Amino acid sequence: MNYPLDHQDIRDAVRQLCADYPGAYWRECDREQAYPTAFVKALTESGFLGALIPEAFGGSGLPISAGAAILETIHHSGGNAAACHAQMYTMGTVLRHGSAAQQQAYLPAIAAGRIRLQAFGVTEPSSGTDTTALRTTARREGDRYIVNGQKIWTSRAEHSDLLLLLCRTTPRDRVKKRTDGLSVLLVDMRECPAGSLTIRPIRTLMNHATTEMFFDNMPVPASSLIGEEGQGFRYILSGMNAERILIAAECIGDAKWFIDKATDYACERRVFGRPIGQNQGVQFPIAKAYAQMRSAELMLREAMRRYEAGENPGEEANMAKLLAADASWAAAEACVQTHGGFGFAEEYDVERKFREARLYQVAPISTNLILSYIAEHVLGMPRSY
Ligand SMILES: Cc1cc2nc3c(=O)[nH]c(=O)nc-3n(C[C@H](O)[C@H](O)[C@H](O)COP(=O)(O)OP(=O)(O)OC[C@H]3O[C@@H](n4cnc5c(N)ncnc54)[C@H](O)[C@@H]3O)c2cc1C
Repeated sequence: MNYPLDHQDIRDAVRQLCADYPGAYWRECDREQAYPTAFVKALTESGFLGALIPEAFGGSGLPISAGAAILETIHHSGGNAAACHAQMYTMGTVLRHGSAAQQQAYLPAIAAGRIRLQAFGVTEPSSGTDTTALRTTARREGDRYIVNGQKIWTSRAEHSDLLLLLCRTTPRDRVKKRTDGLSVLLVDMRECPAGSLTIRPIRTLMNHATTEMFFDNMPVPASSLIGEEGQGFRYILSGMNAERILIAAECIGDAKWFIDKATDYACERRVFGRPIGQNQGVQFPIAKAYAQMRSAELMLREAMRRYEAGENPGEEANMAKLLAADASWAAAEACVQTHGGFGFAEEYDVERKFREARLYQVAPISTNLILSYIAEHVLGMPRSY
């Protein structure tokens, strides 16, 4: 199906690149739980992963809608950008809050693909969604910090050079607000002494290269601090709109893939002497998912318009992520159902994409927490937690 869209040239180029990485490629990676190294390399070399980095630092300086077009197209082509999408939004923390020295040291190298900033360590096993309760500490000792603690679900850590790490620099009982006293360190994992950093992969429902990380008196140069000590939570929050927007775009790409796949199959597959797509019971879930996807897409456009105008699209970005994740999940369900037994067969890619699409109800933010955000910050109801 042809969808009327912006950044058509970028979409065409990404689609062409993705054609070299068909379902068979992703199936093999999925089977082995292997990182899609060749795909990420191709995407990096083509400059797409540096699309949002300003030209002054060697990137393309494109707006967020271009990043969204890239990620959406990867997902619409049947691939999975989760292996590398984080760099597009974690880079923004360095860009907005990093020092000139940090920007010069890292952004050109990231844009050129010489180093990767793919790991983002916020979630911890004991605190979960309650981020300010995190327990990883960074203690200042002379010209370095000593980091102790643990992170979980730190995706791509084994395939990244840099880690954007949120940790506590002032104990929670010594700050006025629980959001104070947290700091962001840009950790160069290549320089961490042996034994101070342990990364363990976690096998998951889908192929995601996620890990748990353990920090044991890990020394990090004080020059790795992003912005001001104690203000880290604010810096992480300031990147959330971009993250929501880009993930929503991936969900929309997934939804389109499922809708296209389901529609084609419904038209081809003949049972009782006619295409199954002639039955309204088969048509309606696909049509409904399409309507959900299009409305999510409109909300996403509004979020991007406001983002690119320099406004704060917190409401629209959150709603776009919520609606897009729901649309992709509805489309995934309709696609499996339309394929009947073949929806479960590996070679159709439907079951793989189905597993991949499930994540976005939980991460990077769960649907409940977006609903809480809308209830509290948009509708003015009391905070529920
Ligand atoms: C594959 C994968 C990759 C990930 N990658 C990263 C990463 O790279 N970096 C990173 O930092 N994190 C990452 N995460 C973590 C992800 O952001 C969290 O899993 C997510 O935020 C939910 O936190 P939790 O798992 O601790 O769930 P919990 O906080 O334990 O919540 C469990 C359930 O309870 C619900 N819940 C909790 N509190 C409330 C409340 N007050 N009201 C209503 N419902 C509530 C949640 O919605 C959720 O459904 C990843 C997770 C996964 C699964």
